Parts: sequence; C-alpha cells; structure tokens
Amino acid sequence: MYDLSCDRVTKAFGKFVAVDEVSLDIPSGSFFSILGPSGCGKTTLMRMIAGFETPSGGDIRIKGESVLSLPPNKRNVKMVFQHLALFPMMNVGENIAYGLRCRGDAKAEIPAKVARVLERVGLPGVEEKQIGQLSGGQRQRIAIARCMVLEPDVLLLDEPLGALDLKLREHMKIELKQLQHQFETTFLYITHDQSEALVMSDRVAVMNRGRFEQIGTPRELYDDPVSGFVAGFVGDANCLAGKIAEIRGGEVRVELDGGGAVEARRADDSAVGDAVEVFVRPEAMRIGETAEGTRIAGTVDSLLFNGANSRILVKAERGQLVEVADPGQSGELTPGASVSVGFSPARARAFARRTA
Ligand code: ATP
Repeated sequence: MYDLSCDRVTKAFGKFVAVDEVSLDIPSGSFFSILGPSGCGKTTLMRMIAGFETPSGGDIRIKGESVLSLPPNKRNVKMVFQHLALFPMMNVGENIAYGLRCRGDAKAEIPAKVARVLERVGLPGVEEKQIGQLSGGQRQRIAIARCMVLEPDVLLLDEPLGALDLKLREHMKIELKQLQHQFETTFLYITHDQSEALVMSDRVAVMNRGRFEQIGTPRELYDDPVSGFVAGFVGDANCLAGKIAEIRGGEVRVELDGGGAVEARRADDSAVGDAVEVFVRPEAMRIGETAEGTRIAGTVDSLLFNGANSRILVKAERGQLVEVADPGQSGELTPGASVSVGFSPARARAFARRTA
C-alpha cells in the first residue's frame, strides 16, 4: 500500500499546462523528493496534493483513497512552507498546540502531546520560548513538530531550507533525514537543489516542464540518467556537443563540434548524423594516458581548490573547458601544462541534443 499516489495528475492554467500527466507511488515511511528547476510545476503539484489547487485531470490517493473531493483540512497531509508560517505572537507550545485545539483534541491531553513531539524533534522543554528567541534551525524543527503532532499520513515540505544560510542548510539536510527516520512518516520534499534531493531521499522524481523525466534512487539518477536533462541537472557533468559518426553495438563515436572525437555509451535511439551531447562526470575523467577509451589533449587552465571537491580545469585544444575531479591528481601540475584527459566510454553517455 502506498501512502501517496498520483495517477496522471494534470493542471492547466488556461492553455498553459503546468503539470502534465504526472504519476507516482510513494511507499509508506519513505523520503521522496521532487527535483526540478524553477517553474517546472513542483509547487503546483504539491498544492494539488494538499488540496489548495484542483487538478484538471487525474487522481490523487492517500493511503489508497482518492482525496479529490476532500478540502485541505480533511486530507491527512500537513505542509511545511519555506517561510515556516509560525505564529510570532504565540510561544512555541501555543504554536504546536494550535492545530490540536482546532482539531478538537481533549484539552487535558494537549500539553503531553506537545511535550512529546518537542522531545522527538530534539527540543524538549522549550514550550515557553518565543519564536523570536529561536535559531533558524530550531524554527525549522518547531515547524516540523507543529505538523507532526497531528500525525499526518504525509508531510509535504516546500523548499523549507531555501531561506537558510549555506552552513545551516548543509546541517539541516542531515537533520531532516534523521527526523524523517525517527517519525517513520512519508516526507514529500520539493526542491530545485540537487544536492538536497540526493542526500536526503530514498527516491527522487526529476521534473522538467510539467513532466517527470525520471524517478529513481539518487544513485540510479546519478549513474544512469535517462536523458540529457537529468544527466545535466543531477550532479556535475561535462557536456561535449557533437554528431554521431559511427554506431558500434551499444557505443557511439561522436565527432565533437570543435574537432576531435570521443566514444560513449549510446543512451537513446539517436542515429548516425544526429546531434548529441556526451555527458561525463568530472570523477570519470583521468589526467594522463589511459589504457582504453577516449583522450582529449589540452592544457591545464586552472586548479580549483575546494577540499574533497577540488577540480582541475583543462582547456581542450579546440577550446572547450573540461572539468576533472582532483582526488590528488593535480600533483605537480601547473596552469599551462600540456595534459591529456581520458575517460572510459562506459562512463560517458550520448543523448540527443536538447533543443532549449
Ligand atoms: P519555483 O521553484 O520557482 O516555485 P515551481 O517548479 O514550483 O517553481 P510552479 O510554481 O508550480 O513551479 O509553477 C509552474 C508554472 O505554472 C509556472 O510557469 C507558473 O508561472 C505557472 N503557474 C503557477 N500558478 C499559476 C496560476 N495560478 N495561474 C497561471 N499560471 C500559474
């Protein structure tokens, strides 16, 4: 049984189709993210699930039951917004109790429920604090506690980390994942930040122009993207443009636009002569001679130090910049040094070139 299912859900605003026949099934207790660029339809889909927007077509089921005829307050889902929407005039305890009171819970039971949920989010005993006295991370946890005290079937989170600074965001990614584990409740998280989606999620749907391009585990999306859009949007990738010159079994030889040729896995039904993009992760690139695969000659353009994410930028002879991960590869390299960059065709994917 799924906590949440969407079956060909569609939303049109006049002639513009913001969400286009989107389907998903989220098993109980999982962390599921919808990842896509601004304007792809994520928020519209979430608003339909919450009941704030009516679909133009399709069905939405929570725990197997269609909720299309139910208003938002009759659907057992709760939503955390980017700006959290805590009541600044109420203290923490009152903020959390508010939903319980509206629901008509017995007055005598409310303080214990509030205390228990505060413990579960790691903030025991802060009932009397004012919202203004809390740090950004604590406010996030209170916003989640306020929803979770109502025991929703699904918690919807609409870019809740968007307003935090970078350091706190990194920390909260891990914390949110831990909270989800602890509550064992399904979290549906929407974001345009691929690193948030990869770190936290059991599964991710990559959305583009109202449609899901791929649904998979973070590793599946990263290692086996089904389109150039997914390859380019999830994780870093070098993108080399060219035309297919030859097809050999599951591989293609691609003549690059600027000259030279590379080999890659054939990732779709592109034919000889078709314009394609070859995607290669920076960590699949090696400096120096390699026994097999493609080599691109060039010179070191710059060394970008960023701890474990350091990069070597190589300017290929024909002008393109190639990004190579640097797990100790830079050694004695200095800008201007002649190098060759190699990669195995098995780690490169050729997709039909995107039109926009
Ligand atoms: P962001 O991350 O920027 O919030 P998003 O992926 O959540 O983007 P949506 O807010 O769902 O995108 O919007 C999808 C598209 O639908 C956008 O082009 C938007 O302009 C359009 N849209 C959303 N709501 C309406 C509306 N009420 N009327 C007309 N168009 C709308």
